[in-house]
Amino acid sequence: MIKKILVANRGEIAVRVIRAAKELGIKTVAVFSEGDEESLHVFLADESVRIGPSQVNKSYLNIPMLIAAAEITGADAIHPGYGFLAENPNFAETCIDSGFIFIGPSPDAIKAMGDKSEAKRMMKNAGVPVVPGSDGPLKSLEEALSIAKEIGYPVIVKAVSGGGGRGMRIARDEKELALSYRMASTEAEAAFGDGRIYLEKYIENPRHIEVQVIGDMHGNVIHLGERECSIQRRHQKLIEESPSPIVDKKMREKMGGVAVKGAKAIGYFSAGTMEFIVDRDRNFYFMEMNTRIQVEHPVTEMITGFDLVKEQILVAMEEKLSLKQKDVRFTGHAIEVRVNAENPEKGFVPSAGKIETVHFPGGPGIRIDTHIYQGYKIPPYYDSLLMKLIAHGRDRMEAIERLRRALDELVIEGVDTTAPLHKKVLESEGFIEGDIHTGYLAGLGY
Ligand code: ADP
Repeated sequence: MIKKILVANRGEIAVRVIRAAKELGIKTVAVFSEGDEESLHVFLADESVRIGPSQVNKSYLNIPMLIAAAEITGADAIHPGYGFLAENPNFAETCIDSGFIFIGPSPDAIKAMGDKSEAKRMMKNAGVPVVPGSDGPLKSLEEALSIAKEIGYPVIVKAVSGGGGRGMRIARDEKELALSYRMASTEAEAAFGDGRIYLEKYIENPRHIEVQVIGDMHGNVIHLGERECSIQRRHQKLIEESPSPIVDKKMREKMGGVAVKGAKAIGYFSAGTMEFIVDRDRNFYFMEMNTRIQVEHPVTEMITGFDLVKEQILVAMEEKLSLKQKDVRFTGHAIEVRVNAENPEKGFVPSAGKIETVHFPGGPGIRIDTHIYQGYKIPPYYDSLLMKLIAHGRDRMEAIERLRRALDELVIEGVDTTAPLHKKVLESEGFIEGDIHTGYLAGLGY
């Protein structure tokens, strides 16, 4: 049994976890840095512990402090949210070794999927289609050149320990590959302390479509359909929706089946996401698995009526999944926009400051996940996500119309936000037609 959860995170995801815990009758402990004293998660939790100065490595990434906070408050479980320590196998292991329940998958699963080339190899062995490319890390430039010749250009060189859209380089011929090989490896060493790189075919104008899975500790794994996340800026997602405009029932069953097979092959439990890249002919290939709850999980919740965070907590208590695959129903269409404190007209420069005025939209089909309120000061130390605005409609067009209407109602004064950009995308012809790819935003001039 879990009676008290320490939430090792901040911002909207800390609020989200606290809400799920409260609905289950579980007490919560918030942790906060010096710069986050006035953050909403601190006010909503039953207790709170200050864990250090604003710098993340001294607070939200400080494992001994987090464990001490859990011990002092008598928490019995720890939820990592996303980002920070969520995919750090050492943190999961330390929680468990210190006698706490880690609300997430096993440290072994986190470790296996954290090495992106190893994850690809494991998925390939499990029968999951993967992007053609090197089998594991590259040993030499000669090897890279010979693989590229075999699969054909363009190719992309990626860091084995990469993440957040960083550490990737495209090469269109042998000369470029020789250059990319050296640069990618040097960059990866500098950014991730791991210079190993691997190579795969570069898919032109692909879609990013991912499958939500959830498993329990009794060997059950189900999928909850897909999310289309092709509206990206520099490989970072800005708008997500479910279902994908190009995925029909047959393709959903195929992708979902493959995702479940992959998750079962590594004995996965808790919530996880299999990310696929999809080419113009709707062929899909595994890219990586995220072993945590994701920012964009609400669109799945809206169309399935399933609470993913509550289910994560129940699974951590060793309960069986509350739903069987045949009972999963998809109703309507949901779209999420990420309202970030950034100015899209000025190269997305972050905008810190005080929220002077805020007015939240409402009405049918609208959900808001946020930690901001009137008078809240946005600290400059953390990521720029202010709010996730999600609309649910009977079909895609109704969801678009509701989201446009909600963006018109939304008022945030004091800082620049990405809301005006979202309005433009929702009015653009390609988006309305569902004809999108990962370069779509760049095509609109962003
Ligand atoms: P990260 O872990 O840094 O997020 P991913 O491997 O998930 O890296 O890739 C992030 C994004 O990069 C994808 O959503 C896609 O836009 C682009 N990308 C990655 N691999 C390829 C590829 N083989 N071909 C084309 N685009 C790719």
